[in-house]
Amino acid sequence: MEKISNVYCIAGMMADSNSYLIDNSDNDSDFNYIIVDTGVGQSEDYLSSQLGEIGLSFEDIDLVVNTHCHFDHVGGNHLFPNAKIAISEIDGDCLEDPESPIPICFVQTREIKRRDVDIRLKEGDKIADFEVIETPGHTAGGISLFDGSILISGDTIFSHGGVGRMDIGGNMEDMKNSNSLDKLSKLDVEYLLSGHGPWVSNANEHIKMSVGSFYF
Ligand SMILES: [Zn+2]
Repeated sequence: MEKISNVYCIAGMMADSNSYLIDNSDNDSDFNYIIVDTGVGQSEDYLSSQLGEIGLSFEDIDLVVNTHCHFDHVGGNHLFPNAKIAISEIDGDCLEDPESPIPICFVQTREIKRRDVDIRLKEGDKIADFEVIETPGHTAGGISLFDGSILISGDTIFSHGGVGRMDIGGNMEDMKNSNSLDKLSKLDVEYLLSGHGPWVSNANEHIKMSVGSFYF
């Protein structure tokens, strides 16, 4: 498993999002091990073995952060019995409300096991050394995380010039009006860790490609 700084990168299987495990155990914090996005929830054995490679189990994870509320990012939340769940205000409503369909469920009818939201994230909040950046567009409450070097971008942007689709619970106007992409393009980023596909170095180039493809 590749480790970039204090982040272990776990490639998603099939429809799973990638998961990123932040080792925060060197800091004095309630949250020693933080996982960002948890996949669909059907790759329990795989995720377990990936955590096992670094001597961890599901029980060791203290905090789950969801970049947004799509099923392929939140479906595995229930695997972490001791973790608090953190997500943005808007997408948190979607996660908690049994009446609100988790967007993108139409491509997968399986019920998501819902978990209550413990922490509602907003712009500027800190997750370990990462700062929360609100990046609505792909969903109304999408967030990215940046620690001054690594950008965890969820499905807002991908490596090699991709931007998350906006027709599955998101909104093109949100993406434009919120300046989500402008905000990301102003950062000086070394590594781009996106929700799907490969994580990459030389991130500024990849971000430029993504933003360019959106405004083309
Ligand atoms: Zn998504």
